[in-house]
Amino acid sequence: MRPLLRALLAPINHFVDFLSPRYCLICDELITIDNRINNLNSLCSGCFYSLDSAPKSDSIIDRMFENFASDDISITNAYSLFKLHEKDFAKVIYNLKYYKLWKIGYEFGLLLGEKIAKLSETKYDCVIAVPIHIAKKRERGYNQSEFIAKGVCEILKIPNYSRYVQRQKYTTSQTRLNSDERKKNIDGAYKIPAKSSNIFLSKTVLIVDDVFTTGSTINHLGNELLNNGARQIDCATLGIA
Ligand SMILES: [Zn+2]
Repeated sequence: MRPLLRALLAPINHFVDFLSPRYCLICDELITIDNRINNLNSLCSGCFYSLDSAPKSDSIIDRMFENFASDDISITNAYSLFKLHEKDFAKVIYNLKYYKLWKIGYEFGLLLGEKIAKLSETKYDCVIAVPIHIAKKRERGYNQSEFIAKGVCEILKIPNYSRYVQRQKYTTSQTRLNSDERKKNIDGAYKIPAKSSNIFLSKTVLIVDDVFTTGSTINHLGNELLNNGARQIDCATLGIA
């Protein structure tokens, strides 16, 4: 933010801080104009800068080669913000997923969008948030990835096409499954309804999710999109496990 603009906005920001104080999710410190970065209201600058950055796209894609046959990989480039083994960042994701702190998703989605804008040379046609089954959405109240996608779309100025893809299979958590079991678990999970089948023709699509683990979910959705005529699939997540 420019110094003059910052000075002009300072009284307003102090007033907002006074009305609704915000605390860092990691260290519980009050977030003020002095320790806030950009528009992030969920982490203080100290904690933010202490997080481990995610590896570069090439090494994320290399990991996929360990889990999938090369002709089964649908993803060309993969972007991520932070490493999830960092317990502090895992706490952020946990809050996003289970404590209904969906605003975190949007805030970090903006940051993710900025990272992609800086690193990617690809011009995307649309974003898709990895869909969750309607029953799971009812249970949880929302799909956290949709809020991340909202932030990404805002920065990259591209439309969100999430509504054209459905999750038709209700699956249990993937976390305890090995890679073969994950593949079986996810098989046939996503559907593009017949009336939307032309939507992705020749499109370059960015899939957005909260966490990249083996890439199984994202890869599967990517293949479904390629089968429906998409040209290229990249992916972006907040964290990488
Ligand atoms: Zn902090």
